[in-house]
Amino acid sequence: MDFQNPRYTPMSRRRKIYEGKAKTLYEGPEPGTIIQHFKDDATAFNAKKHEILDGKGVLNNRISEFMFQKLNEIGVPTHFIKRLNMREQLVREVEIIPIEVVIRNVAAGSLASRLGIEEGTQLPRSIIEFYYKNDQLNDPMVSEEHITAFGWATTQEIDDVIALAIRVNDFLTGLFLGVGIRLVDFKMECGRLWENDMMRVVVADEISPDSCRLWDMKTNEKLDKDRFRRDLGGLIEAYTEVAKRLGIMTENEPLQGTGPVLVKS
Ligand code: 5GP
Repeated sequence: MDFQNPRYTPMSRRRKIYEGKAKTLYEGPEPGTIIQHFKDDATAFNAKKHEILDGKGVLNNRISEFMFQKLNEIGVPTHFIKRLNMREQLVREVEIIPIEVVIRNVAAGSLASRLGIEEGTQLPRSIIEFYYKNDQLNDPMVSEEHITAFGWATTQEIDDVIALAIRVNDFLTGLFLGVGIRLVDFKMECGRLWENDMMRVVVADEISPDSCRLWDMKTNEKLDKDRFRRDLGGLIEAYTEVAKRLGIMTENEPLQGTGPVLVKS
């Protein structure tokens, strides 16, 4: 099976597997593959707030491709195979672990409000939190005890998830630092990848300004989905800025990624 050169399946003949808030998953061209389609839908507060923002899907597809490609290159296992077009990427089929892993470097969002810490406070060390993926319950925060007791993941899998989270956080922090952006926090999802009888935990889903908090190092300007959540406007401009700084896009036209571009001081 050649994952790099998949057979073409016309859109009309594709089987939809799952439609989420920002992405749709289709059956891939080969067994064990899935096509991940990025939509323009922006949602917040468990989809109570919803808007279509033209171009968001294209930007997230490109930015997430960039992140996953780099992670693959440094040996962090992920589900990512290749980008197919402006809105779609080919990924390996994994069994998603129903846990959202949040890694925080700076206090913001729910941590800041829950613990009464001023937004922007540097945390004494990176903090990892787990949330149970369940829209009906508003993704409640859970502990490792809950995860193992209810069978959502084993102790070994949690250890693997934590090891991946630390590596991804270290890598992304450095990558964004190089382009003048502070990685405040981000959400990561993992899945079980089966290869014959062997199972590995890999990074799945997406890594984009939808799932990260990204602040400009100098101005603290928000370059992430908080622009939508907090009615700040300018989300597409902010995501475009992230893409440009990473070297994924030039002034006007999308082009092939050329690598990070250092910001001029
Ligand atoms: P908080 O718990 O402060 O709301 O979010 C922490 C981090 O995880 C933020 O970067 C936020 O974007 C991300 N995050 C938390 N839950 C979700 C979610 O359901 N979807 C997405 N895309 N990101 C999330």
